[in-house]
Amino acid sequence: MEFESKCVQGSYSPKNGEPRVLPLAQSTTFFYENADKMAYVFDYPETGHLYTRISNPTIDAFEKKIAMLEDGVAALACSSGMAAETLAILNACSAGDNIISSSMVYGGTYNLFNVTLRRYGVDVRFFDPDAKAEDIEKLIDDKTKIIYGETIANPAMTILDFDKFSKIANKYGLIFMVDNTLATPYLLKPKDHGAHVVLHSTTKYLDGHASCVGGIIVDLGNFKFQGNPRFEELFNQPDESYHGRTYSKDFGNATFAAKARCQMMRDFGSQMSPFNAYLTNLNSETLHLRMQRHSENAQKIAELLEKHPQVEWVKYPGLKSDKYYDIAKKYYRGNGFGGMLVFGIKGGKEAAVKFQDSLKFLSIVTHIADSRSSVLHPASTTHRQLTAEDLKACGVPENLIRLSIGIEDYKDIEADILQALEASKK
Ligand code: PLP
Repeated sequence: MEFESKCVQGSYSPKNGEPRVLPLAQSTTFFYENADKMAYVFDYPETGHLYTRISNPTIDAFEKKIAMLEDGVAALACSSGMAAETLAILNACSAGDNIISSSMVYGGTYNLFNVTLRRYGVDVRFFDPDAKAEDIEKLIDDKTKIIYGETIANPAMTILDFDKFSKIANKYGLIFMVDNTLATPYLLKPKDHGAHVVLHSTTKYLDGHASCVGGIIVDLGNFKFQGNPRFEELFNQPDESYHGRTYSKDFGNATFAAKARCQMMRDFGSQMSPFNAYLTNLNSETLHLRMQRHSENAQKIAELLEKHPQVEWVKYPGLKSDKYYDIAKKYYRGNGFGGMLVFGIKGGKEAAVKFQDSLKFLSIVTHIADSRSSVLHPASTTHRQLTAEDLKACGVPENLIRLSIGIEDYKDIEADILQALEASKK
């Protein structure tokens, strides 16, 4: 199947007389006729469902579809994007280990990395994603497990130079983990550029209707755990808490996902609810169509803003003037550059707040990437817990306005932005 068909028909094919639409299995648990039959599924969870924290038919179909879209081998749906990040990182790290990460990441991720993970003994070493490989490599030691970045950073709009990070990952045997939330596999496939694990906040474009918080970890099946001394203890030795099974030996190329499910999800919970998997799966059927319209509308708005006298600067990878235009051209699939853009308004923080408050069609929400156009001034909202220094490190100046351009008629979006820019002068 082509990508578009996978979005629509994905991993669910009904048998004779079964529902055409993926059914919602809103059940915590699953019935077995006798203890032996149940025990077999305990030992081999890939053969059936026992309890929804570990797996469920609706969640399973959704996971398989996203794995297909990312060309992965398995996926694990989580209660939120943050839960997906936390489980994925702890899946590969124990206390005393470290990861290296781009500093240009979503504010919530920055907080998790900079404060919370450190409290549990996992050190996070940040690098400027535009830094030279040899400078980034200086952060790596024998306890480093992961190199982490966002395809397109929220809201800094930096684009990962995949080849640079993939080379570092392969040279040192690190897992190259990429948050592909804002690009989605319709616009860019991290696997084509050397990533090993992909994460999504499915809350964003995969759901696309602002109806469900969720996250997903996709195992791309291309990381070699066996023989890699960094992962000897966690992946290449028997897990006594899980029937003595050795993940890298027993689960083939789905090693990362198997451990994440059988150990991390088992112990930490935070699974996606069946209802959210049902809705997100349904909504993901139009991912390809929505991403086209998001990209077309955002491209036109970026070009409009670039010429507007009230605007200091615009960042959108589809603009020829953008610092990341060439990098984006190299890695994006030619389907556009998505719906998010940021710009700096003239008149600083005060004008930014006036602009935001004057919008009528675009709504102020702490959210991006759904069908409705929206706006946010991060310095006074989502990022207000960060210090001025942290804001700078995340690439969020005080006059930065983030627009998430929806799939409505372009004329309505344009008219509202133009009137709010006018109002911001007063
Ligand atoms: N990654 C990115 C790029 C995000 O934008 C967000 C949320 O905005 C997250 C992860 C966290 O996801 P969630 O809000 O679903 O926990």
